[in-house]
Amino acid sequence: MPEQVRVRYAPSPTGIPHVGNIRTALFNWLFARHHGGRFIVRIEDTDQSRRMDGATEAILESLRWLELDWDEGPEVGGEFGPYFQSERLDIYHQYAEKLLGQGDAYHCYCSPARLDEMRKEQARKKLPPKYDKRCRDLSEEDARAGGDTDVPVVRFRIPPDIRVSFNDQVRGEVSFESNVLDDFVLIKADGFPTYHLANVVDDHLMEISHVLRAEEWLSSTPRHVLLYDALDLKPPHFVHLPMILGPDRAKLSKRHGATSLLEYRDQGFLPQAMLNYLALMGWALDDRTELFTRQDLVRHFTVERVGKTGAIFDVDKLTWMNGVYIREMPSEEFIQWVLPFMEKDLPPHIPRPLDREYVARVLPLLQERTKSLKELGDRSSITGDGPLADFFFQEELEYDPGSLVPKKLSPEDTAKALTIARERLEGLGSFDREALEVLLRDLAKELGVKTGQLFGALRVAVTGRTAAPPLFETMEVLGRDRCLKRIARAIAGLEARQQN
Ligand code: GLU
Repeated sequence: MPEQVRVRYAPSPTGIPHVGNIRTALFNWLFARHHGGRFIVRIEDTDQSRRMDGATEAILESLRWLELDWDEGPEVGGEFGPYFQSERLDIYHQYAEKLLGQGDAYHCYCSPARLDEMRKEQARKKLPPKYDKRCRDLSEEDARAGGDTDVPVVRFRIPPDIRVSFNDQVRGEVSFESNVLDDFVLIKADGFPTYHLANVVDDHLMEISHVLRAEEWLSSTPRHVLLYDALDLKPPHFVHLPMILGPDRAKLSKRHGATSLLEYRDQGFLPQAMLNYLALMGWALDDRTELFTRQDLVRHFTVERVGKTGAIFDVDKLTWMNGVYIREMPSEEFIQWVLPFMEKDLPPHIPRPLDREYVARVLPLLQERTKSLKELGDRSSITGDGPLADFFFQEELEYDPGSLVPKKLSPEDTAKALTIARERLEGLGSFDREALEVLLRDLAKELGVKTGQLFGALRVAVTGRTAAPPLFETMEVLGRDRCLKRIARAIAGLEARQQN
């Protein structure tokens, strides 16, 4: 690639960024890093009515979470600034003046009320919404005199009857008939530019070499091409990224669950898993490889491998991938990630701060089966499996005593087995996993029950659940006192049940 690669992520701060927005940021970042180019963040805040407080912070926070560092933009500055479009209004006005001067744009004095009426009429006639060009061929005086507002907008004069073509690096040659395009607005009545004008002017002035953006912008591109042409500027290369769909192949939306990137962070997803997963939303190295480190992605990312077809965002798949990353990390690191979640999510009656030494013994037992950092302490985590760790910290466990009774064993025999087990555990020398295993296997034999039956009853007694980490390790970490207390409670629960 001979020219200097300069790409931009140009979000509008109208809401909390969703995974699709950040996928665009990621692809731009990967493209820049792969080619040794520059990654620029530009905030497209020209729509005053849709501006949302806190949106810019959430956008930058999302980038920071995934460690998508930017070379120019908010906070870091750069020689092509300012990087907030609202601080560049005079620049857009200069370009609008140029277009007005050369007849490629005109003032339109039609009021919003008139345009609204027109659109309703078009809808009634089942026509596409389009400006009727009332002011297009009038002199400035006639347009003003015949208009119904004093504050005009500036509209672009679409050249009639031509074919607008451009090359998209994913889709190849794309073309539109100019007649289907509206005389779109360049400068609004509030003096702010529209997306089209500001985007084109800034991509030019910021020397953007490639525009990587979502497919939904493809229909804007012919307008941009006409603007570049009218301004006698060279357009950048265009790369439209495939749509992100839900598992039902409909455009990804709230209906499919969480869509905001930071919600995934808060739900206990790791940034490295999210980065990996998002990279697969429209890009693939081959038809097999799914796990990529950041370095792998930078090394392999090229536009040739971006696909045309919609990418399916599947939370189950993402959850699986998160589990892979969790399992593969050193347990020290796992503890660092999980601690803040557990401190926050475990029931409030458990004393804080959690005992670090105890936590360091508990968590390695859970790491293997953890799919999100949040499910350790929180019942409502989106993986639906939490809380996995609470029984290690809770004094009293809540469970149905019926679940203590294993298949093909009576409640009486279960209570008896637990009573004898409790006595033996009380007398056991060292309460460690090896000793526990020998003791309990021998005991099952002696009692004439299956190991699965005895271990099952004990598992529920000490953890309150039927699925838990390996029993002997769990008992060792819980410690003798807790185990004995819990088994006593289980026996009492079974007896109370029999009396009822
Ligand atoms: N401001 C647009 C957005 O919110 C940018 C589209 C583009 O990249 O041209 O996505």
